[in-house]
Amino acid sequence: MPSYQAPLRDFRFVMDEVLDYPRHYAQLPQAEEVTPDVVSAILEEGARFTREVLLPLNRTGDEQGCRLEGGEVLTPSGFKEAYAQYVEGGWPSLSGDTAYHGQGLPTSLGMMLSEMVCSSNLAWGMYPGLSQGAADALRHHGSDEQKAQYLTKLNDGTWTGSMCLTEPQCGTDLGLIKTRARPDEAGGYLITGTKIFISAGEHDLAENIVHLVLAKLPDAPEGTKGISLFVVPKYLPDAEGEAGERNAVSCGALEHKMGIHGNATCVMNFDGARGYLVGEPHKGLACMFTMMNVARIGVGIQGLGLMEVSFQNALAYARDRLQMRALSGAQEADKPADPIISHPDVRRMLLTQKALAEGGRMLVLHAAQLADRVECVTSDAEREAAETELGLLTPIVKAFLTEVGFEATNEGVQVFGGHGYIREWGMEQYVRDARITRLYEGTTGIQALDLLGRKVLMSQGEALKPFTKQIHKFCQAHEGDAAMEEFVTPLAKLNAEWGEITMAVGMKAMQDREEVGAASVDYLMYSGYVTLAFFWARAAQAAHQALAGNPDDAAFYRAKLDTARFYYQRLLPRTRAHAEMIRAGGESLMAMQAEDFGHGFAI
Ligand SMILES: Cc1cc2nc3c(=O)[nH]c(=O)nc-3n(C[C@H](O)[C@H](O)[C@H](O)COP(=O)(O)OP(=O)(O)OC[C@H]3O[C@@H](n4cnc5c(N)ncnc54)[C@H](O)[C@@H]3O)c2cc1C
Repeated sequence: MPSYQAPLRDFRFVMDEVLDYPRHYAQLPQAEEVTPDVVSAILEEGARFTREVLLPLNRTGDEQGCRLEGGEVLTPSGFKEAYAQYVEGGWPSLSGDTAYHGQGLPTSLGMMLSEMVCSSNLAWGMYPGLSQGAADALRHHGSDEQKAQYLTKLNDGTWTGSMCLTEPQCGTDLGLIKTRARPDEAGGYLITGTKIFISAGEHDLAENIVHLVLAKLPDAPEGTKGISLFVVPKYLPDAEGEAGERNAVSCGALEHKMGIHGNATCVMNFDGARGYLVGEPHKGLACMFTMMNVARIGVGIQGLGLMEVSFQNALAYARDRLQMRALSGAQEADKPADPIISHPDVRRMLLTQKALAEGGRMLVLHAAQLADRVECVTSDAEREAAETELGLLTPIVKAFLTEVGFEATNEGVQVFGGHGYIREWGMEQYVRDARITRLYEGTTGIQALDLLGRKVLMSQGEALKPFTKQIHKFCQAHEGDAAMEEFVTPLAKLNAEWGEITMAVGMKAMQDREEVGAASVDYLMYSGYVTLAFFWARAAQAAHQALAGNPDDAAFYRAKLDTARFYYQRLLPRTRAHAEMIRAGGESLMAMQAEDFGHGFAI
């Protein structure tokens, strides 16, 4: 069975030495509560909970999956008890609003816990993960009554949430939604329709499930402008606010799928279910975006968590497994062969995993600081700046970290050779679990359109500039520093190229809108590699600084520098291919007629 140790040392390095979390927390309104001791206690307890409680259920959850019996979904053995412990430990309320049973701690702490949960048991983690998104949507858009009723229960974990958007005929294009909401005499609405692929739509972990459902009112305009958001509980709250009468919402079937078997993916039938409007009529998509943005970062963290755990296990195996002698001669002559970690190609795979996971952690913890600032800063200008940067980085966190997450978990299998393909070792589960992360919450293609089209080009490049400015300033600050030259010289060049490429695509797009779609995924991957290069340069600088003080754990810092060099020399050159493909434009993609694609297999 795979093992997992939360990378607490690395968390500390990123927080204290790269991103200056002590200063960040000191500037938040919760400064008095988020002391270094509290942060350490949360991380350590999170590490214990995920290792001792969640990790042992990962394999059994995958093997047993969920069952639908008499309309009820039964989760794999142990899931319910683990959820009870999670609630008992106060984890669901960590960053919830204090007015509604929350502890009011910064969002970033919840994100750190989330990485550990995703490493130890992704499928289980999706149950509380979706509640978090539902709570955020209600916190921002719900009425006071809805907050008092639902937010309190979501925050204390007794109820969980789900997010019901997808229908058989619509996934990406929510304008095609058919689910209807008809006003009833009691001042609410009756919701009718079928939603598919609903994660945690039905299960046995909590007393009630709060579905957030997109539907159309009778007078709704066509397309996405006509979508409203409703809260539809599985059990209607009674006079005391507890789960009361059963609502007309049920799970019709469970999907059989490639991975995340322990998470229930449900077909949900709403048969005139009672629902309550959240926010204004026809403005539901904007409300749902609050939930989707939280969920998108959450999915990026899933990619990160899986890279980390796959790396940890691949590393242990590579140190242990003896095959062949090193090309330069025996490394461990007393053994029948050398450990496979001696071979350059195995090192390439391990370092790819390590550099992407540790780089991804820096990116996520930076995004987490922005999320804290969006929540807490009082100045409009500061909040807007944080929002713009978080908006820019969200599709990168979501899509880049899940694309490379899939690659890294695949490399994890490869390090194990044929044994990686055998279920017993658990490495193939990570690949199957990682595969969904590139799809849900908007596919990579859709995230890429969001980044290039909606965020960067629609703002005439203004959304990108503050971030490239940060990179520019960093490079300038270290100009002439011999130790940093190997990082800042290529970084400064790429940063300038990022702006040039953006301009070039923008110019082409003015002639032909298809150019945006043609460039978008390569643009997203390019942006992801440059973004991680910025964080690796900062890590290298922090490592140099620490090494200058002769620390006891110098090996940790030397490994950071080695990994930063690997990233710059062996992963960053991928930007060359992406830049070339962006520059090639869309002509070769669009030249062929749709009916000409299949000539090879036409009779
Ligand atoms: C296990 C699982 C769990 C899920 N959980 C939930 C959930 O909890 N709640 C929920 O509401 N949904 C959920 N989903 C649905 C998921 O979000 C959708 O499957 C996803 O958004 C894609 O929609 P689709 O499957 O209809 O694909 P489509 O929208 O049909 O897309 C098919 C392909 O076309 C591409 N494409 C579509 N439009 C464009 C375009 N304009 N430009 C470029 N490319 C385009 C897509 O990128 C994709 O590659 C889940 C799905 C799965 C499999």
